[in-house]
Amino acid sequence: MTASVSAHRYARLLPALLLALAVANPSAQTKITPDKNSYSVADDVKVGQEAAAAAKKQLPMLNDDQVDKFVERVGARLAAAIDGELRHAGFRYTFDVVNQKEINAFALPGGPMFLNRGMIEAAKTEAAMTGVMAHEIAHVALRHGTAQATKGQKFQIGAVAGQILGAIVGGTAGSVISQGSQFGIGAYFLKYGREYERQADLMGAQIMARAGYDPREMADMFKTIQAEGGSSGPEWLSSHPDPGNRYDAIVHEASLLRVVGNGSSGQFQSIKSRLAGMPPAYTAEQIAKGQTTTGPPPVTTADRRVVNVEPPSNSYRTHQPSDFLRISVPANWDAVDASAGSVTYAPKGGFIQGDDNGGSFTHGVQVGVAQGGDGNLQQNTQQLLQNLSRSNPDLRATGNSRRETIGGRQGLTTPLSNVSQVTGEREYVTLSTTLLRDGSLLNIIGVAPQSDAKTYENTFRRVRQSLQIAD
Ligand SMILES: [Zn+2]
Repeated sequence: MTASVSAHRYARLLPALLLALAVANPSAQTKITPDKNSYSVADDVKVGQEAAAAAKKQLPMLNDDQVDKFVERVGARLAAAIDGELRHAGFRYTFDVVNQKEINAFALPGGPMFLNRGMIEAAKTEAAMTGVMAHEIAHVALRHGTAQATKGQKFQIGAVAGQILGAIVGGTAGSVISQGSQFGIGAYFLKYGREYERQADLMGAQIMARAGYDPREMADMFKTIQAEGGSSGPEWLSSHPDPGNRYDAIVHEASLLRVVGNGSSGQFQSIKSRLAGMPPAYTAEQIAKGQTTTGPPPVTTADRRVVNVEPPSNSYRTHQPSDFLRISVPANWDAVDASAGSVTYAPKGGFIQGDDNGGSFTHGVQVGVAQGGDGNLQQNTQQLLQNLSRSNPDLRATGNSRRETIGGRQGLTTPLSNVSQVTGEREYVTLSTTLLRDGSLLNIIGVAPQSDAKTYENTFRRVRQSLQIAD
């Protein structure tokens, strides 16, 4: 009897002792190993900065000093709590608030983070808000965006920024025909799978604890986000899917961690009152329709330019825009832009460089790969057309898609018309598509003034017939 009582005591004592040791010893935290990544750390920085600059232009930023300073202070505290080996040279964690209602946040490679005002308003406590921020920081530190892109890479890193933006604003960009021409690559940088979610949850919890916040508040915040649902939608959850047992896994990780000090600034409630006193935040729909006071200004007649371009040369030059593609274009055309997830070939004067990355072309062709489709040529072509018309509201089909062999495989060519954002003139557009082996959609978009349609119709046909695909 006595013996059994003491055995019972030991059995109870031992786990408590182990737990005490674990709490004092930070190595008890779950070890997280970053996935393989064929991009350099500098690539992360570059692509993130480009996409961030574009995002700031396209999204209605809150631009409130007090709110920004608060979020920056909290963010800096979290960033300082990143494990030593996951601090990358050149990464800079910055925090901006978007005046958007939906509960969402996203972080770009290399560190720029954007938090929707709706996310801050939905958080019950400062620690709950930091839960989302720490989770996003973990994605950045673990370089999940480029690790994921490593798996689906088709174009050079310089090509990705425009597509990240496309994924953020859903093709609302406005002035650049190329920005809607992809529907998936950007999502590699914003939407993650279960394993990366699990890693970001655990590492996020570790960051929170070291920054003085209770990681269990992260788990609570995810419950809050889930419960919101409804019309303001848990957008964040669709980009950050539950890896399974999310709540319990975070709470378990929290049990292995010691919260160091008290990270709370004590300002959260006053920041929330400040937000509550502002005019309502924009909805995603308003932003998509350009109904914001910030974001892209409409193109005015005064901005429009007269473009003088020499006609396409009859001799052709072959280019290799990607290791699996060869294409011939008129010898007086050059590769002018590869910043929107595609390559554009245009004659001198036929491409107008935008003040950020990318620009608009009035003459020439653009070759791109749209990932994320379901491998159905007809449907994916329709989806691409829809994306294109979101950023080019005047874009119309002028006839049915017709079957055409592209790069030796079954393809479709669709005649379109558009109104140029550069010249204000009607333009002739063709879209040709074919499927790559992985189900993504190779697309060639030809653009020329309507008045030159006859000349360019032949040129575009010759260009797309020159295509060689070795995927
Ligand atoms: Zn995530």
